[in-house]
Amino acid sequence: MDRKFDQLLEKHNLKKTVPRNSVLEVLSTREVATSQPDLEEILGKEIDRVTLYRILKTFEEKGIIHKIIDMNGTANYAVCHSSCTESQHHDEHLHFNCIVCHHIYCLNEMHIPVISLPRGFKSESVSLVVSGVCDKCNARVK
Ligand SMILES: [Zn+2]
Ligand SMILES: [Zn+2]
Ligand SMILES: [Zn+2]
Repeated sequence: MDRKFDQLLEKHNLKKTVPRNSVLEVLSTREVATSQPDLEEILGKEIDRVTLYRILKTFEEKGIIHKIIDMNGTANYAVCHSSCTESQHHDEHLHFNCIVCHHIYCLNEMHIPVISLPRGFKSESVSLVVSGVCDKCNARVK
């Protein structure tokens, strides 16, 4: 069994387990965000649903992965690239939801513009999901 994520788990004070390694393996090798049902399908019987749910929740709390809600309201998960920590996520990049292939992309280079709020409102986090046709689907129709 590949345990290449042991170091990362250790860094976040998490117990090194095979299921945690497997989840990180899947999330880090896919270039698009992955939903829990998709993860269940990919991982098969290796991890039961409850364990997977707990792993995702822990990873999110620890600043290892971030959650993106797609246009159907489904949660998708992607590995954090920036300096996310247990107390704060810094994934303030745009997310793109393709209406053709339904993939969710982390547009890491595209920062969320500064949002001004009415007096008395204080922002904690901002997420912005753009929907449209991705580059790959666009290339396919032409
Ligand atoms: Zn993050
Ligand atoms: Zn697409
Ligand atoms: Zn992202």
